[in-house]
Amino acid sequence: MLRPTLSLLNKLRFGSILTNNRMMANQVQGCNSTIMGVIENNKSWAEEMQAKNPDFFVNLAKGQSPKILWIGCSDSRMAVDVLTQTKPGDIFIHRNIANRVPSEDINALCVIEYAVKHLKVEHVVVAGHTSCGGIKAAMSTDSVGILDHWLRPVKDLYMANQKEIDALPESERVDRLGELNVIQGVNAVSKLPVVHEAWKEGRELYVHGWMLQLHTGLLKDLDVSVASPKQVDSLYKFNAASH
Ligand SMILES: [Zn+2]
Repeated sequence: MLRPTLSLLNKLRFGSILTNNRMMANQVQGCNSTIMGVIENNKSWAEEMQAKNPDFFVNLAKGQSPKILWIGCSDSRMAVDVLTQTKPGDIFIHRNIANRVPSEDINALCVIEYAVKHLKVEHVVVAGHTSCGGIKAAMSTDSVGILDHWLRPVKDLYMANQKEIDALPESERVDRLGELNVIQGVNAVSKLPVVHEAWKEGRELYVHGWMLQLHTGLLKDLDVSVASPKQVDSLYKFNAASH
């Protein structure tokens, strides 16, 4: 039986290591050019802003007083500043997969409390979008790992509205569940004690539900805005703590 010599084996191994290394270097280079492009773009943007308004960054560094809290999906196509033509400092943002507002999520609750109580925003927007991957996953029996847990309430929402959703043409089902998920988010925000405290103080605070239509770039108002505790069931209106 012919056996490859040790030197031939080493040559083969070394050759494949070199090839792998070269491939990896090319990949890293590609990755670097992408990420370096981001840094370069940022530099051009900062220079442009500075040229237009020499005080822009001086003022930006002083603090923020956004009027809007945006709770949206993490989807890369929901570029909030771009699609609303707003500037840094205009919108306070919280994002997660499928723009959920779980009442036990400390991250979302902290963002909402800080925005409503301390920044005193006047509007909270819960924004979903068409063709949401998170919503699609919730309507499927395919596992998406840890996301199965996160999307479970969306799946429950689908089950609760399955008759209405399944009666729609297949192409509209995901977006309808997306809308119902936004409406659920609006309801969840409207029930939060921090929101009711703001209303008790006589502050104007609106909670809106919007859907970004990816195929047109337009935001659709779902017309479910809540502006007063009168629109919320009495069970969710808390009295001051007695202890
Ligand atoms: Zn999404």
